[in-house]
Amino acid sequence: VADKDEAQGLKNIRDFLKVRTGYDVFPLSFRLIVLDTDLLINKSLNIMIQNSIVSAPLWDSHTSRFAGLLTATDYMNVIQYYCQFPEEMSKLDQFRLSSLRDIEKAIGAVPIETISVNPLLPLYEACKGMLKTRARRIPLVDKDDETGREWVVSVITQYRILKFIAVNNEHNTVLLKRTVRELNLGTYTNVATAQMTSPVLDVIQMMVHRNISCVPIIDKDNRLLNVFEAVDIIPCIKGGVYEELAGSVGDALLRRPEDSPGIYTCSEHDRLGAIFDTVRKSRVHRLVVVDDENKLKGIVSLSDILAYVLLSPVD
Ligand code: ADP
Repeated sequence: VADKDEAQGLKNIRDFLKVRTGYDVFPLSFRLIVLDTDLLINKSLNIMIQNSIVSAPLWDSHTSRFAGLLTATDYMNVIQYYCQFPEEMSKLDQFRLSSLRDIEKAIGAVPIETISVNPLLPLYEACKGMLKTRARRIPLVDKDDETGREWVVSVITQYRILKFIAVNNEHNTVLLKRTVRELNLGTYTNVATAQMTSPVLDVIQMMVHRNISCVPIIDKDNRLLNVFEAVDIIPCIKGGVYEELAGSVGDALLRRPEDSPGIYTCSEHDRLGAIFDTVRKSRVHRLVVVDDENKLKGIVSLSDILAYVLLSPVD
């Protein structure tokens, strides 16, 4: 019976996403900071920090077109570039956002496919596109009927979608009674970890190479102390001072803004429904799975949850 309930809950959530659009996810009034591709990369960092944002759509004012999304991954690429071409360091403060694609090419990074979706399309499609490309955020780009010009409405994130599901589907998420372990939700082998004393640069390279957005920080007994996230590098390179990257993860975490959401954990025995309760109440960007002694077992990312909710077979 539990499984029948589970299937019904999943079906209802999918039906919900099929009749909601990108426009439904946003409050009536919100702000969107769009950055011009002529802006210097270093200046963009200050703008991100001052406005407490971690990504922004880019606008090419020469062509009046949407030019992709700026995220922490781009800054990680810049750091990689600096490691591979230290002699270019003096040029770094002249780079503009329009150079990001060249930097990506120079270091041989796999470009993240910048798909955008029309906000009038069902959310279900946007979510599937997100999972397929492994993009963590998708810009919603609409077209003006009269002028044919594009404009960026907003950016949709995995976090926003899960929150939207959680808030509007309490009656369905209670049906999700299977546990994290039963669902084999998340990653439990070969988890990338670091220690407080690890150099930040090593952790950044780990994230770039494995295409992950966080690394749990553990002590020598495998106890969870913190989580280093991709967005944590933004305050580390503020003002274009890349030297601070030589420091330790512990130092870098001290630069976190005061309003950062903190880390969330769960146990293997938690039900998915309970995880949705946490998502409903808090700003969760991932859950670290720990045992009774706070020892690290694995990690459940938002993409793991979204993939299960959208793509798992229900019959
Ligand atoms: P998201 O797409 O939600 O930002 P990630 O990119 O961090 O999440 O996760 C992508 C995949 O990698 C997920 O399946 C997740 O379980 C796994 N993963 C996340 N962090 C780690 C890590 N530190 N070590 C190993 N696997 C990880």
